[in-house]
Amino acid sequence: MKYIDIIRDSFTGYFSYLLEEIANPSFTNYFYWLVGLSLLVWIIEIAIPWRKNQKIFRRDFWLDSFYIFFNFFLFSLVGYNAISNVGVELFNDLLNVFGIENLVALKVQNFPVWSQLLIMLVIADFIQWNVHRQLHLRPWLWKFHQVHHSVKEMGFAAHFRFHFMETIIYKSVQYIPLAMIGFGIQEFFVVHMFTVFVGHLNHANVGWNYGIFGYIFNNPKMHIWHHSRSLPKEHPHGMNYGITFSIWDYLFGTAYLPKDGKDIELGFEGDEDFPADFKEQVLFPFKKDNKKIVALNLEKKEPLDSNSF
Ligand SMILES: [Zn+2]
Ligand SMILES: [Zn+2]
Repeated sequence: MKYIDIIRDSFTGYFSYLLEEIANPSFTNYFYWLVGLSLLVWIIEIAIPWRKNQKIFRRDFWLDSFYIFFNFFLFSLVGYNAISNVGVELFNDLLNVFGIENLVALKVQNFPVWSQLLIMLVIADFIQWNVHRQLHLRPWLWKFHQVHHSVKEMGFAAHFRFHFMETIIYKSVQYIPLAMIGFGIQEFFVVHMFTVFVGHLNHANVGWNYGIFGYIFNNPKMHIWHHSRSLPKEHPHGMNYGITFSIWDYLFGTAYLPKDGKDIELGFEGDEDFPADFKEQVLFPFKKDNKKIVALNLEKKEPLDSNSF
């Protein structure tokens, strides 16, 4: 069957791609870009730390570094191959059923490259902002997202502490509409590396907010509040959902920056019972006896309101 072939080709193709990538460093090499950006942001953290008493090898530094590599392998597998190929193929077939041949709604290929990148970045980020809200609003999604919120001490590597299901959720929601518009893998790569850089900085131990640009771009001083253990009454599910851009939070009323968040307590209520090691964190959402921790955090939360997506 066609879809089985696509999945099989994706996996075999992926392994030769991965070997090729690691064996041949180049300027469009995701693996080396990720390592390079991680080192760069780490050096910035060490040179100009926000919390000066925070150790360079902070709490869970090695756990989070492991997450970087684990989630890299998974992201490149899922994002670049299996789901996207099958998803796009399925979508093509669906359109064909209705007699629609050309699914390129917008002829973006004729636009200059910089505007293609910008359009893709903005659309992808807005989709992710909505997905991120869902991760906080829906109890079954929150269980997966709790892994990211279990960070107690913030540093760049915390960016990649997230459950592998998040990759699957984010990418399947994000890639399909982008593929419909007609963006290719090359553009996806550039945009992705930019978002990795901004995301690393958002979690880094640096006291930056980019001045006036902080109302457009997410930043460390804003994102630390997203990780606040206690939530304000007006934002019982959380706030500052932005990934690369902060502008969505300002536009839709979910921005929250009451004071300097340098030393606020991070995590979520009940996090003292949350597992500390990788394996248990990955298994956590699938276990039945985790109800206590989830319930603790959702107790204060109200039912979904009508304007939630
Ligand atoms: Zn979150
Ligand atoms: Zn975060």
